[in-house]
Amino acid sequence: MIKVDLSLLFFIYLVLSLGGIIVLWFWFELKHPPGRLKPYSKTIYRCSICTFRYMDYVDKKITRCSRCGSLNDSTESASDDF
Ligand SMILES: [Zn+2]
Repeated sequence: MIKVDLSLLFFIYLVLSLGGIIVLWFWFELKHPPGRLKPYSKTIYRCSICTFRYMDYVDKKITRCSRCGSLNDSTESASDDF
C-alpha cells in the first residue's frame, strides 16, 4: 500500500481540480473567440417609417418595428447615434 501524506493528497486534489478548470477555460476560449460572443439584444434599430427606436436580434437581415409593424432592413436602419 502506498502511504501518502494528507497534505500531499490535498495538493494533488487541488492541482487536478484547478487543472481541469484551466483546461475547460482554454477549450472554451478556443471554441468561442472573444469578438464572436455579443449580446444579441443590445442592437438598436430605427424604423424608417415612424422613426421609432427598438431592439432586435443582431443576426436578422430584416427586422420588424414593434410599434407600426413595418419591415426594416437592418443594414440601413442600424443606428447607434445616441
Ligand atoms: Zn415603425
